[in-house]
Amino acid sequence: SCSSFTLESLLLTKKLYCSVLSLLHLNTLQFWHVTDLHLDPTYHITDDHTKVCASSKGANASNPGPFGDILCDSPYDLILSAFDFIKNSGQEASFMIWTGDSPPHVPVYELSTDKVISVIANMTTTIQSLFPNLRVFPALGNHDYWPQDQLPVITSKVYNAVADLWKPWLDEEAIRTLRKGGFYSQKVSPNLNLRIISLNTNLYYGPNIVTLNETDPANQFEWLENTLNTSQQNKEKVYIIAHVPVGYLPYLSSTPAMREFHNEKLIDIFRKYSSVIVGQFYGHTHRDSMMVLSDQKGSPINSLFVAPAVTPVKSVLQKQTNNPGVRLFQYDPHDYKLLDMLQYYLNLTDANLKGESDWKLEYVLTQTYDIEDLQPQTLYGLAKQFAIAGSEQFIKYYNYYFVSYDSSVICDGKCKAYQICAILGLDHSSYVDCLKQHYIKYRP
Ligand SMILES: [Zn+2]
Ligand SMILES: [Zn+2]
Repeated sequence: SCSSFTLESLLLTKKLYCSVLSLLHLNTLQFWHVTDLHLDPTYHITDDHTKVCASSKGANASNPGPFGDILCDSPYDLILSAFDFIKNSGQEASFMIWTGDSPPHVPVYELSTDKVISVIANMTTTIQSLFPNLRVFPALGNHDYWPQDQLPVITSKVYNAVADLWKPWLDEEAIRTLRKGGFYSQKVSPNLNLRIISLNTNLYYGPNIVTLNETDPANQFEWLENTLNTSQQNKEKVYIIAHVPVGYLPYLSSTPAMREFHNEKLIDIFRKYSSVIVGQFYGHTHRDSMMVLSDQKGSPINSLFVAPAVTPVKSVLQKQTNNPGVRLFQYDPHDYKLLDMLQYYLNLTDANLKGESDWKLEYVLTQTYDIEDLQPQTLYGLAKQFAIAGSEQFIKYYNYYFVSYDSSVICDGKCKAYQICAILGLDHSSYVDCLKQHYIKYRP
């Protein structure tokens, strides 16, 4: 009959459309990046708002709902909604990177080694049960240890526990170095000439007193150079993943995210092997930002991306926070160069009001800024556009920085100079040069 004919031809059209789409996608592969889950297992709705979550540290939760509160770390349902969204997004990904920080922000005495391990185990099994066929490359965060920030330079209960938990994703050599020092490298898959190097940058984090006077904690620098050197010889490309980023904090003046000495050392290595490294991915700041590493002559050589957190938590003193976010990168399967990034987010206020989680696309990097790709020279050009007084592009960037939490925030003068120089100046001398250039210009 006529109606069944229409249905058949519709289905045929859809099939044709889908196969054309998949053909087009042969030129693109994708991977997910999730970070800073910060599960608070105590989160629950109750009339006494001081008792909603341990992570509010006795402060009144501001507007607690099923998906969380801005003064609390993530309820399990928020984290589950993020992974459910990823699973049902219809996006095909070849792998996922997960850059650490699973436990909540609570005083040291409220946690223990066993509690920290059980939260990491909970997050690991959540991911493994939802994505049984997806390979995940994790990195340890400064909160993935007890006491927090004190990640050691030798084997430990936590390193051994995560090595056991992450065995389904990692090969023998990766597990061996993970047990020893909390870092590893591994090829993404046998048929891709792409290697992930997962660094334990928590060893370089200021509050880590274990590594205070060490020039090369856990010999990670030496290992990194050897690994990059071998990759270069084998004509591999490398993605660097880690929790604490290199470079300077975008909201402060002249403050590197890690110790300055260790930052300088890492930047030296990244410059030396910039032709091997085709992307760098971090977490920890909970904000959405990017960086462009330049060589000593000032030419852009590497693109770096800091992903926003899943947790929306802020302290009572902070004005701004981030909406929960997860992101998808697109890369070229031939040279592994980054082509695009899709940032997804949950409007926490709306989700709590509706009682359902409506994760949405926040922006597509190339489309929102009208750029070709994510290559260092492209992002360098974009950052130069940001620097122009009154730049609409920068207004967008600063709204995305907080994952569209508050579009009315204004950043100019010093605030803007710090943001621009955090993008462009990753070592001390280029950061200082940048501030000299922009700080004068942007004085209110
Ligand atoms: Zn964190
Ligand atoms: Zn962190």
